Amino acid sequence: MEVRICNTCGIEKSLIDFPKRNGWYKHRCIPCEALTRKEYEEKRRTTPERQEYMKQYRPKYYLKNIDKIKTKVYDWKKLHKEETKVKMTIYYENHKEEIEAYKSNWRADNPEKIQATRNRRRARKAQTPQNDLTGAQWLELQVAFNPSLCLLWQAGQRSSDPGPPDAIGAQWSPYVA
Ligand SMILES: [Zn+2]
Repeated sequence: MEVRICNTCGIEKSLIDFPKRNGWYKHRCIPCEALTRKEYEEKRRTTPERQEYMKQYRPKYYLKNIDKIKTKVYDWKKLHKEETKVKMTIYYENHKEEIEAYKSNWRADNPEKIQATRNRRRARKAQTPQNDLTGAQWLELQVAFNPSLCLLWQAGQRSSDPGPPDAIGAQWSPYVA
């Protein structure tokens, strides 16, 4: 098998360990090539010009892809639930004062939002179905789901005074209409 010495790491390797371009094998092996590229990218990323560019570009990219990014972050968090929890706890512990200050500032700046949340919560609470069944209706419902209560129900229907709760069963007394 044909071999070649990599001009970067100096290790003799077989030709298939070298990247091929236009039918020719390069003189730098695949891992060295990857490493060089990575270093180059890293260097490029950390130049002041590049950082300045990214600073301007990043918010634009974020706004343009907001849904995509949000979904991605959401999925990642769902997949790494425990990790996220730990991370957030650590972050909170390290930035407690900042976070609390931010929160109280936000609350002071957004009283209308707080009120809106409060109203929403109240509305939600008011919408939850209230139990307005009469005692007899409630018992009927229970009997439908649990026929063994049937005798109890009949006893209640026949007598206006079902007697002390102990006589018929503790279940009975709260549901007398
Ligand atoms: Zn090499």
